[in-house]
Amino acid sequence: LHSEIHQNRFNPAITQKGEKINIFANVSDLDSAKEAKEEGAEGIGLLRSEFLFKEHKPIIRDQIRAYRAIFDLFEDVTVRTLDVGGDKALPYIDIPKEQNPFLGIRGIRLLKTDPKLLEEQLEAILIAADNRPVKVMFPMISTPEEFKEAKDFALNIAREKDIPIDNVRFGMMIEVPSVLFALQEFNTLVDFYSIGTNDLAQYLFAIERTHPTLKIDPHSPILFNVIERIVKEATKPVSICGELAGDTRVIPQLLKTGVQTLSVSSKRIGQIKDKVRNV
Ligand code: PEP
Ligand code: MG
Repeated sequence: LHSEIHQNRFNPAITQKGEKINIFANVSDLDSAKEAKEEGAEGIGLLRSEFLFKEHKPIIRDQIRAYRAIFDLFEDVTVRTLDVGGDKALPYIDIPKEQNPFLGIRGIRLLKTDPKLLEEQLEAILIAADNRPVKVMFPMISTPEEFKEAKDFALNIAREKDIPIDNVRFGMMIEVPSVLFALQEFNTLVDFYSIGTNDLAQYLFAIERTHPTLKIDPHSPILFNVIERIVKEATKPVSICGELAGDTRVIPQLLKTGVQTLSVSSKRIGQIKDKVRNV
């Protein structure tokens, strides 16, 4: 059975009712992107860019090269801008000690504390995109203003550096609960959404995702209700890129919410496609 699932990994995942579900991969660098290709990913749903350069602050030229290699590999790539803070640290980014790092300087909030870093990253991404339909995604967005600011920041870089970007798309992670109450406005601003169930669940249930003893119930109906509401209210494409999307046990429930794109770790792709075909 396992070898059959493996052999079928490049075939599309179509449900019994004939609905095609897109299965994308979560990756963090060129090697994992190559692995994703080998495992049957139809695109990159989440490039966690914070893991591209782990030791030193990269120069722009190296960043361009890294992004270009990944954009060359897949036609559909969603690259998330640096998401440090909380559970993710980088040696070259100085975040002052905080009492509650998960409620502190994280993700897009870096725009306030370290704009130069984001500026260089966005410049590299936009140059490497070379006006292909690359998707740029901002993490930890909590208000429409924050998204507007981040997108304007990117548009300004493109204007100043004369980089054509009319095919580039801008979207956001849904991982902060405040977003749920402003979806109608977000619909007018974003090109796409990706639900980060890891952080969304953390903030919904007020349980740290890395807590040593408290565990979030990944199968809580509350989480599925939230996903269903997002899919219903969103007028732009929605994908799920949190760990939940790669959990074979919940695929029937997830598809019931109406979501059509899942982004999962490469090792799961064959199994998830197999599961979808049986729904
Ligand atoms: C998430 O929060 O669900 C997510 C996909 O992002 P990360 O795990 O990188 O925070
Ligand atoms: Mg997250």
